Amino acid sequence: MQGQKFNLQYGQLSNKNLNLRQYLWLMLLLDGKVASQTIKQNLTAATKKLLEQGKRAPHLAAILTGNNGASETYVASKVKTCGEIGYKSTLIRLKETVEEEELLQRITELNNDDSVDGILVQLPLPKHISEAKVINSVHPDKDVDGFHPVSVGRMVQGLDTFISATPYGIMLMLEHYQVQTKGKHAVVIGRSNIVGRPMSILLSTNQQYGNCTVTICHSHTLNLKEITLQADIIIAALGRAGFVKADMVKEGAIVIDVGITRVEDATSKTGYRIKGDVDFTNVSKKASAVTPVPGGVGPMTIAGLMKNTMDAYVRRNLSDEIYIGT
Ligand code: NAP
Repeated sequence: MQGQKFNLQYGQLSNKNLNLRQYLWLMLLLDGKVASQTIKQNLTAATKKLLEQGKRAPHLAAILTGNNGASETYVASKVKTCGEIGYKSTLIRLKETVEEEELLQRITELNNDDSVDGILVQLPLPKHISEAKVINSVHPDKDVDGFHPVSVGRMVQGLDTFISATPYGIMLMLEHYQVQTKGKHAVVIGRSNIVGRPMSILLSTNQQYGNCTVTICHSHTLNLKEITLQADIIIAALGRAGFVKADMVKEGAIVIDVGITRVEDATSKTGYRIKGDVDFTNVSKKASAVTPVPGGVGPMTIAGLMKNTMDAYVRRNLSDEIYIGT
């Protein structure tokens, strides 16, 4: 029989055994700040080692087009994390009105620049620019965002590749907290190329934090609640604040909230608050494990990008040497 339910922050119970937590009916907070910190520490140590060996640090180049507030925040955070780890970063700012040709030319220059390991083009792009063309123009060897069709194709085939940073970050989080996924029914809400679709593929693959039976849902899915109520794992990636309510979640489910929506809030200094796709307050009373927003998937996305950048560096520069391991 399961005991009374308590909401405990990760760390208040020393072991990470989710099955035991489910048995004891303890909710595990899947804290992205904690999990990403471990990854960043490993990458910092690896970078230090490279420098001690007289090698250069990994180098991430980011292109930011226009003045989208959220994009500014994301890019600033990625550049800051590069600095913390010891990577070199270059930020290229282009005007909202930049011609598509000029953006493609800048990407070509970065493709040809041997000192650059990873290229990140922050999305969304201004409407007059083709996202597909831009994504296709990044060389697959430097595609640390994992959006290029070559990266996606390799991921689908289970080959070594760059995995899109958000699904990769979620997989790293499952690994950090040793969330057992084998045989579970995972329901992914959202089928975008950057989150929902790759997430559904990764969870279905034959690997330790995969082997799920996956259902992928979208805006045309009928009876969504009936489907989510069958889920052992819910990945909410639809971009609608508070959409996943407690009555859509089975007792003991694992809930990963990818959503980031700015909701107006006059009491906040910025005038808005960041909300996830999950009604955290009520869902956390039913779930066995849940990610907060902010502080859940967001920091893991950056960790995923940083790991991809190190991988790009290693593949391009140290392929003949023993991988230093991060
Ligand atoms: P997106 O491209 O807008 O895709 C949203 C998906 O949700 C679409 O597949 C859409 O279905 C589906 N959807 C919309 N309303 C639905 C409904 N009522 N029921 C079921 N499915 C519905 O968004 P995205 O880029 O994947 O991002 C999703 C959310 O994650 C956003 O809030 C975004 O800001 C956030 N995000 C967070 C991170 C992070 O690091 N934490 C990273 C990336 C994105 P259709 O395909 O039928 O339109």
